[in-house]
Amino acid sequence: MRATRAIINLTNLRNNIREIKKLLKKQTRLCISVKANAYGHGAVECARVAVEEGADFLAVATPEEGVQLRNAGIKTPIIMLSLCSPEEIDLVVKNDITPFVFDEEYILYFAESCRKAGKTCYNVHIAVDTGMGRIGVKPDKAGDLAAIIEKTSVLHLGGIGTHFALSDDTEETSKVYTKEQYEKFLSAIKSVKDAGIDPGICHCANSAATLACPDMQLDMVRPGIIVYGYYADKVNEEYLSKKQIFVHLEPVMTLQTKVCSIRSFSKGESVGYGRTWVAKEDTDIAVLPIGYGDGLMRRFSKEGFAVSIHGKTYPIRGRICMDQCMIDIGKNNPDVHRWDDVIIFGSQKDGAHQSAEDVAGLTGTISYEITTCITNRVPRVIHK
Ligand SMILES: *Cc1c(COP(=O)(O)O)cnc(C)c1O
Repeated sequence: MRATRAIINLTNLRNNIREIKKLLKKQTRLCISVKANAYGHGAVECARVAVEEGADFLAVATPEEGVQLRNAGIKTPIIMLSLCSPEEIDLVVKNDITPFVFDEEYILYFAESCRKAGKTCYNVHIAVDTGMGRIGVKPDKAGDLAAIIEKTSVLHLGGIGTHFALSDDTEETSKVYTKEQYEKFLSAIKSVKDAGIDPGICHCANSAATLACPDMQLDMVRPGIIVYGYYADKVNEEYLSKKQIFVHLEPVMTLQTKVCSIRSFSKGESVGYGRTWVAKEDTDIAVLPIGYGDGLMRRFSKEGFAVSIHGKTYPIRGRICMDQCMIDIGKNNPDVHRWDDVIIFGSQKDGAHQSAEDVAGLTGTISYEITTCITNRVPRVIHK
């Protein structure tokens, strides 16, 4: 196996789900987001653990993601959070994947596909746009849409959901915005009920709201990032503990590689493309077989980005290449040997000094992007 690999710790995943479940009211259902290959962690393995730990729904973004779970024998209801194109709809229906719908044209495509497949009472959920500005019907039109769904006589309204735009921010104005979104969502639910239709499962809380807004659980929550061990941006452990909400998450992914070569450099010699780093004194450089082709972004080539070897940290030098990068281990370092393990990021328990969240903070992005962008070239090694 390649030296570069992502360790996926399923015990941490399990514990994170248990931590989340402690925050839920007894009747609140749990929908776990496993889209984008479970945020880079491996969809099938993570979905299996999610189901074992009591997930009532799994959430995907594309038809293929849903099909992958079905082909692995997973029978749990699957909701598809994004739109697909008309030619994919038969595949969605064949695999019993519940779509988010919000306009008549899309609904009629689904109805037609269900008739062809001889399916009746096929569940769809209404997406409501309460201020995310992405997909969804306007709140006051939800009742009309529910009527269109029921009129097809093959589709059934199984639920209704909305998505928050600012729930991961802790500014007062952001909290007010989330509350307004929630109120609009309640009005959409009411418009469905007023049309004489049962809205089914009502859901709005993503990770941030699941942690910080216990009053917005409704019938189901839809966390993603917290399942994989990262707090949702500003809604971190410290912020939550001030609110008397105690939840401890552990990163599920540890990205590691090995020292493949140690090379001595003299003062004035440079490392990598563009010669962005020149040795100010004699030193040794270790070469690591990981680069942006593995998801270690070129923009991580900056001051402050360091990896760990046997618990000590070493800075990146020069630009990260597609397949390799270089670190400075200092002259004749007795602690570092060829073929030693190197931790790029991960759980502290695995010896990482930084998590994907720390890397995200350093490089101006969010943990989601760090783990999701680890490419297929990196084998996922499952630790049970
Ligand atoms: C991705 C997604 C989620 C999960 O978001 P997290 O921030 O990872 O919890 C929930 N709902 C919808 C509609 C999504 O697109």
